[in-house]
Formats: sequence, C-alpha cells, structure tokens
Amino acid sequence: MSQNPRIGVLAIQGDVREHINHLNAIGAQAVQVRSLSDLTDLQGLVIPGGESTTMSILAKKNNLFERLRELSKEIPMYGSCAGLIMLADRILDGREDQETIGGLDIVAARNAFGRQVDSFEIDLAMPDLGDTPFRGIFIRAPLVVSVSESVQILATIPRETFGDEQDRIVAVRQGNLLATSFHPEIVPDLRIHQYFLEMVRAA
Ligand code: GLN
Repeated sequence: MSQNPRIGVLAIQGDVREHINHLNAIGAQAVQVRSLSDLTDLQGLVIPGGESTTMSILAKKNNLFERLRELSKEIPMYGSCAGLIMLADRILDGREDQETIGGLDIVAARNAFGRQVDSFEIDLAMPDLGDTPFRGIFIRAPLVVSVSESVQILATIPRETFGDEQDRIVAVRQGNLLATSFHPEIVPDLRIHQYFLEMVRAA
C-alpha cells in the first residue's frame, strides 16, 4: 500500500470538489470517477452528497453499477448523505426504479428529517474520532432507520434533541463500508476523511 492511496470520488453528480480537497489535504491522491475506465487502480472510493435519485440514474446510464458493486466488496467505500443512500441495501421513499450499490445492511430513509429541519447543524459525539464532537451538517439528510447486528453505529442524534422515541442513527460502518447522513466535506474538520483514509490504509 502506497503512502498516498489513490482514492476515487464518484463525480457524476454532487459535491465532488469538497471531498477531493479534503482527501488531498490529508495526503491521499484524490481522483474523479466518471466512467468505468476511471474505476481502476483505486484503493478507496467516496460517494458524495447530492441527489441519490439523479446519481442512481446517471450511474445506470454510465453502466457503473455492476463494477461499483464488485468494488464495494474489494475496497473501502465512504458515502456521505446521498452517498449513504447509495451504499444502503434498502431504502425508504426512493424512486420506484432507484438502484443502489448496496453492501451496508441498513435501511435508509430519504429526506427523513422533515421540512422543519431540512437543514441544520449539530455537534455529534463520535468516540471513534476522539473526545471533541464533530460538527454535523445535515441537508435534506437521510436517516438510518435500522441496522443489522454487523453494523457498527458511529454517531447518533440523542432522542432528547427532537423528542424522539429513540436515538437517530447518523453514521455507520460495516467492515470496509462507511457512511454518514451529514456532510463532513463542508466543514474544516478532517477527522472523518482521516478515519476513512485509515480504513483504506488498513485494507
Ligand atoms: N435527499 C437527498 C437524496 O435523496 C440527499 C441530500 C444530500 O445529499 N444532501 O439523495
């Protein structure tokens, strides 16, 4: 494994540039992935935030799904927001024909935070990243509504915050797949990208 792993960012839709900047800032070599031929020689892949229905349509059009599904078993992948939906095995409120890459044994609900909290910011306790909370920015964010036993929960919004019956799951990991409902690529804190880079280095 090279010291500066080549990490692709799926660049068919969404906030690609922000992920590329964060990855380059922590010593990865970030490259844009648009076509099948770009999906070579990668040690990890990021699926950015954006709009998962559009991303799914474009990925299908570019014939990327089959290779993406194979790769999800071979290299670490990290999905933020729409990227979380793309990595979920099952989705609620998706388009009828909406495909995902899958691999994460979770159910993700699109736009689950409702209109009054379409976008909001909150400090999240993330013990895997250390004692300092991580600033979570949520933009029409999906929610992880259920997880299998093999999925590790990395962050939740405590039930008191919105008067819920249970904590809301907003960051998960299962083996080499990592996903967050929020957008670490638009805050200066690099710890989630660093955490992903460690996964890539360890893979
Ligand atoms: N709601 C969007 C979707 O369904 C995700 C929003 C985002 O990535 N900021 O894809």
